[in-house]
Amino acid sequence: MAWNASINLTSIRDPAEVAIRHVADSLTALPCLVAAGADAFIDLGSGGGFPGLPLAAAMSSVEALLVDSVAKKARFLAVAVDAVGLGDRVRVGSVRAEALAADRRHRACWPAVTVRAVAPLAELIELAFPLLVPEGVLVAWKRGDVDAEVQAARRAVDALGGGSMETRSVVSDDRGSANVGRTSILGVLRGHRLVVVRRGSTPVPAAYPRDPGARRRRPW
Ligand code: SAH
Repeated sequence: MAWNASINLTSIRDPAEVAIRHVADSLTALPCLVAAGADAFIDLGSGGGFPGLPLAAAMSSVEALLVDSVAKKARFLAVAVDAVGLGDRVRVGSVRAEALAADRRHRACWPAVTVRAVAPLAELIELAFPLLVPEGVLVAWKRGDVDAEVQAARRAVDALGGGSMETRSVVSDDRGSANVGRTSILGVLRGHRLVVVRRGSTPVPAAYPRDPGARRRRPW
């Protein structure tokens, strides 16, 4: 909240709302990452640390790399990681996802990638698949017409070596209720979806990810 006065990390100003819309929303992916058996993940475009920071805090033996292309956001992330005592297993990078994907130390090295509110699903697949090990998973947070976005992303999955996509509601109707202040957590999160995209084992062609200009000229 304090850093938000000088750099724009979130438009939400009420800490209770931040707890629900950012922290609880981030944590909805815990079952997916645990089921995938991921011992490490990259959070692409982490911004104010979501979803990467709450997830890393909640999974006590997992290593994480939080990246954001904007240097001052990465600076915030580094300060936040140290402040909450996660510096031994959470790293921060001020780097574009495209640059990481071209780096031998990262390409095809990560069991999981998380990403919220960065780009359309097809583009996220293009950015994330090159970073994933075979059978690794991308978990993307989505709202709105998620089925259409999944359908539109099929071509990207096929071009990058194939894989499977599955959409999950983050809350089910029979989970009772929980509030922060007067706000119902489940009420807020009801329309949110997680899309879990699992890479196949065919190598991702070296041409991907394309640079942002090429992606704009030839969207999926
Ligand atoms: N994930 C956070 C922030 C979303 S805003 C949240 O859900 O609250 C999108 C963030 O992605 C911005 O901070 C922007 O700087 C970063 N970003 C966009 N494109 C990127 C790229 N190609 N590589 C790395 N970071 C990127």
